[in-house]
Amino acid sequence: MSVEQSGPSEISPLRDQAEARLRESRVTGGGWSGTTPHELDLYRMELEIQNQSLQELRVEAETAMARLAEINGRLEGLVATRTEQLESALRKAEQNSREKSRFLSTMSHELRTPLSAIMGMTGLASRLATDSEQKRYLGVVDRSLHDLQRILNDILDVSRIEAGRVCLRETYFTLDAIFESVESLMGSMASEKGLQLMFEQPSEFARLSLMGDELRLRQVLVNLVGNAVKFTEQGSIHVRCMPVGRGERELRLRFEIEDTGPGIGAEDQKRLFLPFEQLDGSITRTHGGSGLGLAISKELVTVMGGSIGVVSEVGRGSQFWFEIPLATGAELLEPEGHPGGVDSEEAIRSGYAGRRVLVVEDDAINQEILKVLLEGSGLRVDVAHDGAQALLAARCARYELILMDLRMPEMDGFQATREIRALPEHRGTPIIALTADVFEEDRRRCLEAGMNAHLGKPVEPSLLFATVLEWLGARSDDPLDALGAGG
Ligand code: ADP
Repeated sequence: MSVEQSGPSEISPLRDQAEARLRESRVTGGGWSGTTPHELDLYRMELEIQNQSLQELRVEAETAMARLAEINGRLEGLVATRTEQLESALRKAEQNSREKSRFLSTMSHELRTPLSAIMGMTGLASRLATDSEQKRYLGVVDRSLHDLQRILNDILDVSRIEAGRVCLRETYFTLDAIFESVESLMGSMASEKGLQLMFEQPSEFARLSLMGDELRLRQVLVNLVGNAVKFTEQGSIHVRCMPVGRGERELRLRFEIEDTGPGIGAEDQKRLFLPFEQLDGSITRTHGGSGLGLAISKELVTVMGGSIGVVSEVGRGSQFWFEIPLATGAELLEPEGHPGGVDSEEAIRSGYAGRRVLVVEDDAINQEILKVLLEGSGLRVDVAHDGAQALLAARCARYELILMDLRMPEMDGFQATREIRALPEHRGTPIIALTADVFEEDRRRCLEAGMNAHLGKPVEPSLLFATVLEWLGARSDDPLDALGAGG
């Protein structure tokens, strides 16, 4: 690069001066002719000096350019090294995250399998127990198991949130259904403490079909109502829902959970929504809990596009609130029957007694629990110990429904499903995963393999019966399936 084109700014004044003199001499004397030899010498000397300065500047500029190039080269080297280091750190973090996910999924599976067995057996024992003391003991075992299950779910939720792997599953639902299920979960706990639990909502919203993640919404409500019941010793808990914004096909709903409990001071409110925070951290604290409920609620509400907060004062109760946007459906939903519970079991008994179902499960205790429950509802139950046996059984008999475990020796549940689906007579047979693999990706893999639904272990008998009832009905209602089965 030439100095004249882009050299340092000092050069231009020198050149400007020489040019100015030339111009001046032309204007005043008509050229150099009138210039004396002495003046010419002076100009020559000056030009030489300028030329020398230019040379020096050029050398300086070239040195600067060389230094720049060197620094540039060094920088490029540094950037390359740093990029490599970052890429390697990223690869390591990704591998750690994959290992953590694998560890979590294995631990979750390993913890759920015995938990499922204990819960199942406790459930069966409670059904048989006639003695009131026995029933009470089993009730305590059952409640503790549910606490354990909740803590396990909370820990898994936190890790899923940390890994940014919370996926929303949107369905249509009504506020009525949500409030009913929260009441059925929390009502007895509140009344045992002598607390009033009340739900309020504008009547026009009760059966309006809303689109959103019903399970996650219910989880947040259960967390907040559960806390209100846990920390309130007397008085009442009001659960309210009201619209705070309306679009053409969207509502912004505000939920408030107000209690008459101890209240929370301004300082404590600041750390309420942080993971593992419990305001009473002392070993003498009276209430159990993992300190994760509010942190999880906050993350879920944020993922749903909303916000959450608390208004409280010590001694004056608390009001937890959250606002979320929900799409509105086109039509009002028809009232449905209660899912699960005695209703579904009874409905199976009266509508489908004697129908043949296949339980595919390698764990002997789980086999027994499922057999007793399903046979108790009037179904005929065959058991296969792994996928290969299930395939054999499906070739020999026409099952109305198949419950499929995933991790099994010989042939796993995914392959078994694919092979069973390939049999013409089982093209439309409902196959329901019943598994301790409960992550969203597990559910997706089940559906991709051709299963119709996914139930996580430990499964509540009410949910098991409701799902079995739903799919038994779907099978017999579908004439195409019947044709498929005939061909
Ligand atoms: P956990 O209830 O499992 O301890 P949370 O994250 O749900 O965890 O709650 C964190 C803490 O916030 C609780 O331990 C309790 O100290 C306080 N807290 C939550 N809800 C209420 C409430 N309604 N009234 C008083 N304190 C509450």
